[in-house]
Amino acid sequence: WRRLSGGLKRTSSALGTAVADLVTKRKLDRAMLEDIEDVLLRADLGTEVAARISAAVGHGRYDKAISADEVKTVVATEVEKVLSAVAKPLVIDTTHKPFVILVVGVNGSGKTTTIGKLASTFSAEGRKVMLAAGDTFRAAAIEQLKVWGERNKVPVIAGAQGSDSASLAFTAVTAARDDNRDVLLIDTAGRLQNKTELMVELEKVVRVIKKVDATAPHAVLLVLDATVGQNALSQVEAFHRTAGVTGLVMTKLDGTARGGILVALSEKYKLPVHFIGVGEGIDDLAPFTARDFAQAIAG
Ligand code: GDP
Repeated sequence: WRRLSGGLKRTSSALGTAVADLVTKRKLDRAMLEDIEDVLLRADLGTEVAARISAAVGHGRYDKAISADEVKTVVATEVEKVLSAVAKPLVIDTTHKPFVILVVGVNGSGKTTTIGKLASTFSAEGRKVMLAAGDTFRAAAIEQLKVWGERNKVPVIAGAQGSDSASLAFTAVTAARDDNRDVLLIDTAGRLQNKTELMVELEKVVRVIKKVDATAPHAVLLVLDATVGQNALSQVEAFHRTAGVTGLVMTKLDGTARGGILVALSEKYKLPVHFIGVGEGIDDLAPFTARDFAQAIAG
């Protein structure tokens, strides 16, 4: 979390500087509130949240001087309210063996890295983990997952590049069941060049997994790169429709000016947020907590 507040410095200081500029030597009026709302929109918080914060700032303060700290406190409070509703841990239901987690998202969002970090987290909790290299489209993705498997000392089910990802998923769920694994993490392809094909493939992966275990996948995690800002909204839309996303992981929150997008997403889709990625290392994954994130954003 120290890494997060450091990482979100770029988000919070942009916000803080703009707010400080606005409130000095002025009394609060309608124009100032509109300016504050603009600053919040530029911080990617979304129209609803920005409007709500601006209204809360104005409440009972018209024609009075207001400090930047007062504004920040309101921002932190309102953001925390939004995030409290979605900050939920990923619960591994041990009645499912394996508990199958499908990891989806566009290429480069941090899927493979997140799987590596999750494998480490789950192993540390004493769970028997298995990985499946379901992004069969890219040789590099398969290799990268194997490296994470070695690092975590967990087996990786992988096929040749270009092989069918659905049949790989079938093989992996069967292997994890036969090997008594607690958790199976399945990587998937995320090429956006052909979105329709990708979504058809993802639907097929889900369908085939159900042939082995009708209750699976037990979690569908969408990995989102914070640095893409507003684009994250359309990614949620597309993947949720296709794969039934059950929770989010937001990566690259270290050093982005666009961390506010998580607030806009949470307000709009209300999907559980489980983890955040704050670096490339194996330990750079943190459970998501509303208060810390809100404080980090408000600065
Ligand atoms: P995938 O294509 O979705 O599997 O994405 P990768 O896991 O290969 O990640 C893409 C790049 O983002 C890699 O260089 C990762 O090291 C990097 N990355 C992933 N998560 C984070 C994060 O939380 N912070 C930072 N700074 N980099 C990350």
